[in-house]
Amino acid sequence: MIRIIIVVAIVAAGYFLFTLIMSSFASTLCTNCDGHGYWKGTRGEKNRCKTCDGTGKKP
Ligand SMILES: [Zn+2]
Repeated sequence: MIRIIIVVAIVAAGYFLFTLIMSSFASTLCTNCDGHGYWKGTRGEKNRCKTCDGTGKKP
């Protein structure tokens, strides 16, 4: 029974760390292009994002 509690605790801790890392990672993404570094034009062409200069991260 103790093992189940330990496993659940490890999974919960892992999930908590995962969401923490993902949230911190998402906050660094460029809001203009959602981290892609480019945005698609009306004809499907790739336009280089000027806000982050194609890096996908906030300047
Ligand atoms: Zn961008």
